[in-house]
Amino acid sequence: THFGFETVAVNEKEGKVREVFESVADSYDVMNDLMSGGLHRYWKDHLLDISAVASMSDAIRQYPGKELRILDVAGGTGDVAFRFVDAAQCMERSISSGEDPISVTVCDINPEMLRVGEKRARERFGSDLIDTSKALSFVEGNAQSLDFEDNSFDLYTIAFGLRNVTDVDKGLREAYRVLKPGGRFMCLEFSQVSDPILRQIYDTYSFNVIPEIGHFVANDRPSYQYLVESIRKFSNQEELVFRMEKAGFELAKYSNLTGGIVAIHEGWKP
Ligand code: SAM
Repeated sequence: THFGFETVAVNEKEGKVREVFESVADSYDVMNDLMSGGLHRYWKDHLLDISAVASMSDAIRQYPGKELRILDVAGGTGDVAFRFVDAAQCMERSISSGEDPISVTVCDINPEMLRVGEKRARERFGSDLIDTSKALSFVEGNAQSLDFEDNSFDLYTIAFGLRNVTDVDKGLREAYRVLKPGGRFMCLEFSQVSDPILRQIYDTYSFNVIPEIGHFVANDRPSYQYLVESIRKFSNQEELVFRMEKAGFELAKYSNLTGGIVAIHEGWKP
């Protein structure tokens, strides 16, 4: 099967994406480590680094009792959300506020990814966080039509998800809608490598090695072929800034990680 976008009509893309992530859900975390050589951990750490830690501690110090509401869209098995929970737990201890300083909602279109994520969360944090304090929740939903009210989150994150959304601009407009005024949008996504030598190494690796790993480890070459192709077809750094501005975000900017293999885009809702 060939999952390249050129052969897939737009209205079929959503179904394909669903299929791909359904079939990779169980092996997703192991495959991430294998394919990126563990780099995805560093990229996700970086997202948290430049984002929320500062604003989280500010919010907690300035408004005790006020909760920072975070929405992690295409949150999959919870990697990004768990980092926020870890950071908040550390801060809570040092600030010794009695309340949960944040709430994190993981939203994903795929119930299989959410199932794996919720199971990991219960093992890692215990069930109180989900069942009692409800500081962490898992919600099925589509980035293009989010089931949340306008102006309801302080921070919207999407990691390795935006390129899978069928109508990216609609996804960005939804992000804008659900953020509070002053809220921050952050996207971690594969982007374009400009250095020709790094680009050649990266292309060879992703077109030749990744589908092989997919085949031998997850017994699923087409899904991993799709992942590689979807990366190549997605907007580059500047194009995504432009699309964010078109959706209404201000101060839109990006920073490259690992030579532009991935980029973190940020913008604010005025
Ligand atoms: N953010 C997680 C991470 O970094 O490990 C998961 C990333 S995974 C590559 C992409 C995720 O996007 C999958 O879990 C998939 O189900 C989800 N997804 C794809 N299209 C979506 C959409 N339209 N709305 C919400 N989630 C979507």
